[in-house]
Amino acid sequence: MPGIAENLLAVRASIDAAERKASRHPGSVSLLAVSKKCLPEAVREAFAFGQREFGENYVQEGLEKIAALADLPINWHFIGPIQSNKTRSIASAFAWVHAIDRLKIAERLAEQRDPALPPLNVCLQVNVSGEESKSGVTPDELPPLALAVAALPNLSLRGLMCIPEPTEDEILLRGRFRLLGALLADLRRLLPHAPLDTLSMGMSGDMSLAVAEGATIVRVGTAIFGARPRKVDQSL
Ligand SMILES: *Cc1c(COP(=O)(O)O)cnc(C)c1O
Repeated sequence: MPGIAENLLAVRASIDAAERKASRHPGSVSLLAVSKKCLPEAVREAFAFGQREFGENYVQEGLEKIAALADLPINWHFIGPIQSNKTRSIASAFAWVHAIDRLKIAERLAEQRDPALPPLNVCLQVNVSGEESKSGVTPDELPPLALAVAALPNLSLRGLMCIPEPTEDEILLRGRFRLLGALLADLRRLLPHAPLDTLSMGMSGDMSLAVAEGATIVRVGTAIFGARPRKVDQSL
């Protein structure tokens, strides 16, 4: 079985290939290694191989890992859904938050982020699939949320994030990613002074499609760390 180093090499190679194929600037896509359900040792191994950006989904698990790895200069991204009673620890321990879809959460993060720290980088999650149960705002709800979040202190509104519905249909997926790119372009016109440079989209199964449609951060877990245990403990 290939190890983490080999997997990282392979993932970086497919990102490079997708960048070239789409005539994108080499290095324009950043790899976020999603380490949820992985032990700190696995993160150390990836770090030793040059990986610096890591993503966590569950607050408690993430905080424990961050503490266990405090000796490493890692940029931690919180990519999971956020409950309002967890914002304080997210605001202090993470550099990025990807999945904001409510103003209340952004307001709490802004209030709780230590002004002595660099601003917390945030992305707004958009429901690009139109599924009722999915998290994320609708495209209609996005402009007012973005305007409000951009006005908050201690946050830097960097862009948009999506998780399309699971499907094998590549045309459909590309359409979802393309929609997120179009929404970001609209936001840039609405907020010409915000540093809106981020499209957080694409995971192990669809990162090349996402890069073809303009992803600047791909969030990749399985392809780096291997399959996670199937049963996820939601309390984490
Ligand atoms: C788990 C997760 C990922 C990584 O998924 P893989 O298929 O393992 O690459 C990316 N983004 C989010 C929001 C996730 O929860």
